[in-house]
Amino acid sequence: MNTRGPRQLLSEVQQAGLCVGCGSCVELCPYFRSHGGKTVMLHDCDLSEGRCHAWCPKTELDLESLAQALWGEAYAPAGVGPCLSVAAAQAGPALGEGVYQGGGVVSALAAAALELGMVDGVVLTGGEALEPTPIVARNLAEIKACTGSKFAAAPTLAALNRTQAAGGERLGVVATPCQGAALAQRGLKPVNQEAPTNPADLVLGLFCNWALDPRGLAAFLASRVELKRIRSMDIPPPPAGVLVVRTDHETLEIPLDEIRGLVPPGCAICPDMTSEWADLSVGMFEGRPGWNTLIVRSEKGRDLAEAALERGWLVLEEMPKSNWEHLDGAAQGKRLRGLRAANQQGLLGTADDPEPKALRVGAQLMAQIEKATGEEA
Ligand SMILES: Cc1cc2nc3c(=O)[nH]c(=O)nc-3n(C[C@H](O)[C@H](O)[C@H](O)COP(=O)(O)OP(=O)(O)OC[C@H]3O[C@@H](n4cnc5c(N)ncnc54)[C@H](O)[C@@H]3O)c2cc1C
Ligand code: SF4
Ligand code: SF4
Repeated sequence: MNTRGPRQLLSEVQQAGLCVGCGSCVELCPYFRSHGGKTVMLHDCDLSEGRCHAWCPKTELDLESLAQALWGEAYAPAGVGPCLSVAAAQAGPALGEGVYQGGGVVSALAAAALELGMVDGVVLTGGEALEPTPIVARNLAEIKACTGSKFAAAPTLAALNRTQAAGGERLGVVATPCQGAALAQRGLKPVNQEAPTNPADLVLGLFCNWALDPRGLAAFLASRVELKRIRSMDIPPPPAGVLVVRTDHETLEIPLDEIRGLVPPGCAICPDMTSEWADLSVGMFEGRPGWNTLIVRSEKGRDLAEAALERGWLVLEEMPKSNWEHLDGAAQGKRLRGLRAANQQGLLGTADDPEPKALRVGAQLMAQIEKATGEEA
């Protein structure tokens, strides 16, 4: 587990094009800021070790150590990862009307966690589709102001950093898999602090296959729609193969092949589709509009899901075996693609590899990936 400083964060991640704009390094100090969808360093800093480097999900993500620290078990390189249960889910009547991305399960769980007093606030991503803005929601109205997916990468964790610096609040976070990994890193690497940082009091993870560069997406869409009229975006499940952009008065379908070039290179080495480091993970439910897939991973997550069900925040149904198998296969596919891509770029190593590596895995998995990469070549 190697921690270096901000200069190395710049060279290994930002200048190498691996930054996914997660916000984990933003507002920890006066130097890193998020501006127009990009993370920028405002001043040089020569610290040899910094939280910015330690907590970035694109530096030194040691999957084996994280699995041991979070789940007390070896990293299982299979399917959706740690899972106590999985179900088809929808928000219950307690959440009420709203425009949700799927079944509103994320918003419902966030609201339930507040009502139960598990957290004082939940870090969410609000703002516009092309200008996602992190906020801390402390009531239902604030949660409802943030519904829907912004497919542009968002500096969500900056709001956590800002609020934690003020101290005293227990916070949940709605996080993409890379943001979940950044949070998990914090528990492992208490840089310059006496005790490990409590990364978050609850992590509600989102499924994610990729995000889009916000500036690139805005430039791409500018010739097709009036940007300020965009109301929502959606990526319906395969075989649709399109990004759906809804404005006040029209709906555009853009073939995904036309926007693939806007996916940051950091997404290509991402091995996690279903937010494996979260308490609960939520994604779309293929073939059933208005429903979500819900994976319960931790005891805390199970307590929240059970209480949310009891209090009318959640409706659950059994997930058909075929859906489960398909999801598990898709998650495994992304893991292997991400690890192989990292290996091809020299960014995958084992714990004892002295070189900087974006991702580290156990020796056995490393051997499997090297073999697969060799066969591909
Ligand atoms: C970039 C991205 C890619 C995704 N890719 C997939 C996928 O491939 N397959 C799949 O099944 N699901 C994917 N999802 C998740 C899916 O779009 C829904 O967010 C999820 O199913 C929850 O639906 P919901 O109705 O419960 O959400 P809602 O109740 O509407 O709540 C949505 C929540 O998402 C959060 N959010 C919005 N945009 C962002 C962002 N950019 N970063 C972090 N948090 C954000 C908001 O804080 C809000 O709380 C993706 C989400 C994002 C943000
Ligand atoms: S990936 Fe996140 S933590 Fe890493 S440099 Fe980019 S914004 Fe900072
Ligand atoms: S694909 Fe991975 S790195 Fe890219 S935005 Fe999604 S979770 Fe983050």
